[in-house]
Amino acid sequence: MTDNVRQLGKIKSALSKYWGYNSFRPLQEEAMHCAVTGRDSVVVLPTGGGKSLCFQVPAVIGEGLTVVVSPLISLMKDQVDALVDCGVAAARLDSSLMTHEQDRVFEMIASNRLKLLYISPERIVSEWFLNILCGCKISFIAVDEAHCVSMWGHDFRPEYRQLGRLKQRFPGVCIGAYTATATAVVRQDIAAQLNLTDPAMLTGSFDRPNLIYRVKPRGNILKQVRSVVDRHKNESGIIYCIRRKDVDSLCDSLQSAGYRAAGYHAGMKDHQRKLSQDLFITEKVDIVVATIAFGMGIDKSNVRYVIHTGMPKSLENYQQESGRAGRDGLEAECWLFYSGGDYGVWKSIISNSENSTPQSTEAAMEKLTGIYSYCTGDTCRHRNLVEYFGQTLKAGSCSACDICLDEYDAIEDALIIGQKILSCIMRVEQRFGGGYVASVLAGSKDKRIIENGHDRLSTYSLLAEYQIKTIRGWIEQLTGQGYIEKCGEFNVLAVTKKGWNVLRGEETPRLLKPTMQKEK
Ligand code: ADP
Repeated sequence: MTDNVRQLGKIKSALSKYWGYNSFRPLQEEAMHCAVTGRDSVVVLPTGGGKSLCFQVPAVIGEGLTVVVSPLISLMKDQVDALVDCGVAAARLDSSLMTHEQDRVFEMIASNRLKLLYISPERIVSEWFLNILCGCKISFIAVDEAHCVSMWGHDFRPEYRQLGRLKQRFPGVCIGAYTATATAVVRQDIAAQLNLTDPAMLTGSFDRPNLIYRVKPRGNILKQVRSVVDRHKNESGIIYCIRRKDVDSLCDSLQSAGYRAAGYHAGMKDHQRKLSQDLFITEKVDIVVATIAFGMGIDKSNVRYVIHTGMPKSLENYQQESGRAGRDGLEAECWLFYSGGDYGVWKSIISNSENSTPQSTEAAMEKLTGIYSYCTGDTCRHRNLVEYFGQTLKAGSCSACDICLDEYDAIEDALIIGQKILSCIMRVEQRFGGGYVASVLAGSKDKRIIENGHDRLSTYSLLAEYQIKTIRGWIEQLTGQGYIEKCGEFNVLAVTKKGWNVLRGEETPRLLKPTMQKEK
């Protein structure tokens, strides 16, 4: 029997003995094989793809201890509880443990009885803990949520940076890095930052064919949310808001309207958050209204919809958050309601963020542009997401997004309308934002417009037959397609080089007229 066959046999029997599974999810076998044969790896599998088992199974068949670096106490706790339930010797070391509990963990490490130890990045690189590890047999090191290592990722955590020291300290120990979201650049950076040696790069498919993606400009958000929720009576759904106060007010409105909803954000007390989470998991409420603080490590497979009431700050975020829908493989809906203002909000958060460097700001702005183009663009949503992560999707309709389902009509006179909008931007000397330009085109009698004398421009009220919000929507679409640029602190609109092609009639943009959502 070759060594490979023997290892595979051990992997399969552990998978079945402890977890009761008889087959692998895509790339699990390859990822486990790397861990048991000592090859470093970067494993990118979508949420629900079964990443945890990729290091847990090798851990139970390894001779020594597997150390798992994990960013959140709640995440560690859930995983350790689940492992102990399966009969695996697992423990965690975190600040919430009492001294005698910690001592018990150290005893288990010292007597080589522990198979998996979950620990935070800060703690593992502390000198006293490295010394403890040096005295015991380590089989493997797993870095969970590994995108946090990279400044190019969407959730960079400085404490993850120190993890590069592990390879220097334990050169003979194999390291695996696991994440749900990483572009090609981030994958390479993870390998470099962790000092991995010739790592296997295992990237699963980013496409989630059972998810139906839809994007719409935000209007009356309560009405928009209810129109989705009402199609899913007694089913579970997550609604994400950007701000805590929006969570509170939307949750209140839904509860007053008789929906079974709970709120979740970092401003709430621990026990309240825990209660909301438990109510959701045990289906005592159908809806969780939350900030992005909610979701990491939540394993609920039957979430039938995820609604974003504002634009997330990157496609990585969107992929991860929307990916919490339909983990059981059944159809689920992902709705994103956005406004041009969300772009401005994120832009100011990014430019004012502490600890930022010119590099990290540039990376964050690039990500923001990526999600913004996704919202305003007219390409298949599945394709757009998958291509963002450097993969391809076979040609043709996905039949699972608003674009491919033909829920939008493209307007026929897009060239003329595009030219009117771009000329108006030029006429106001590229000194005003989207709201103002749309108001001028709609012929608004706004005080500022009159004071500036812009009611006398040739472009004033050129699009008077349309509502301001429709014109704003087109401005966003033109921006997303690269014809307009938003500049400076106030997001002043400017016509790009590509925009001039439209003004000269050499290129026609695609402008969408949102129609009524077709009945299902
Ligand atoms: P991720 O960390 O990638 O989001 P998890 O490791 O939490 O995913 O796995 C998601 C769910 O899929 C869990 O309930 C897990 O037990 C289950 N799962 C993982 N691997 C398998 C498998 N090979 N066969 C069946 N179920 C699996």
